Amino acid sequence: MKIRYAFLLLATCMMLPVKGQQVVQTESEKIVDEGSVGKWLDTPPSKTTAKRAKNLIVIIGDGMGTAQVYSSVVAQCGNSNFLRFPFSGFSRTYSNNKYTTDSGAGGTAIVTGCKTDNHHVGTLADGTPVKSILSRLHEQGLATGFVVTSSVLDATPASTYAHVSHRKMYDSISYQMTQSGFDVMIGGGISNFRPENRQDGLSPIDTLLKKGYEVTYSLEEMKKSTSNKLMTFFCENYYGPVAPGRDPVLAEGTKKALEILTKNSKGFALMIEGSQIDWACHNNDAPYMEAELADFEKMLKVVLDFAQKDGNTLVVVTADHETGGLVLLGGDIEKGKNECKYITGGHSGVMVPVFSYGPCAEYFSGIQNNIDLMPKMLKAMGRQ
Ligand SMILES: [Zn+2]
Repeated sequence: MKIRYAFLLLATCMMLPVKGQQVVQTESEKIVDEGSVGKWLDTPPSKTTAKRAKNLIVIIGDGMGTAQVYSSVVAQCGNSNFLRFPFSGFSRTYSNNKYTTDSGAGGTAIVTGCKTDNHHVGTLADGTPVKSILSRLHEQGLATGFVVTSSVLDATPASTYAHVSHRKMYDSISYQMTQSGFDVMIGGGISNFRPENRQDGLSPIDTLLKKGYEVTYSLEEMKKSTSNKLMTFFCENYYGPVAPGRDPVLAEGTKKALEILTKNSKGFALMIEGSQIDWACHNNDAPYMEAELADFEKMLKVVLDFAQKDGNTLVVVTADHETGGLVLLGGDIEKGKNECKYITGGHSGVMVPVFSYGPCAEYFSGIQNNIDLMPKMLKAMGRQ
């Protein structure tokens, strides 16, 4: 058997494209040749010659482990956008106090570069606030924003702008959101912005309006907006599951965010979260999970098409943790079917994948800690 595998490996290596030879290219190889990344492969980065990324798009698939990604690759029958990334690696997700992280500590680690205890958002375990990469880049004059399929106050989006010792401190989180200075914020969660639903009786919507945001409440209103400062709420708390009938808010929200953020000549940073992959896996609901991943794929297409054309945008896709302990026991690759089995209703502690595209994308290869991602992103942008 070993000899047979060795032969297969040799045969596979011999099929890899070599300059000057006529070879059949895969989709990802074509992109490597044609896009900005190709230049990178020809010119390995160094401190002095590296081309830096002007823009950053960080994408978090909540609960999206390797099995979830592969289920999407199969479900897309080989046309998965995950196959377009020229570089990939892994991220170790443990938190400051637990082998298995929650979304608060996981999101905080990715965007701030700091480990914290579970349930904390944007602070160290002792409560010391830590700044996200979006906040840092906002202070440096770049445009910033986020698009999520959960409430805008959920742990992952909150980790980009808030500093609280518990992820459920929604009054405080929503107030801090109004002070973020981000240019575009898209998600659910209006109810916590209504004075009657708050302990403090404040009206964060009024604060947003005073600060010059246009506040919209539907996909259609969002699309029509011409404002450079946009807040869009799609629903009271959370969107329903993507299947059936949910608007394609992730892809459409991403298009709108890019339209606004690209107006800043200094560049931009955008965080996008596929929030409900996690919820589907908590429910051990494979059709729900696959529908959310299909939604995620549509957003990835928007992002990668943009980054390919732009040539100055670093795209990093990862997860805060895996959810469900998903195992793929079988399926049908031709028909795009997976046989899914979950072994837990909670999170697991396994490494999660990292995919990267664009200038300095190679920084994200190999096994890294989740807190390594943020400094690598800053380095890729030549910033601190
Ligand atoms: Zn999570």
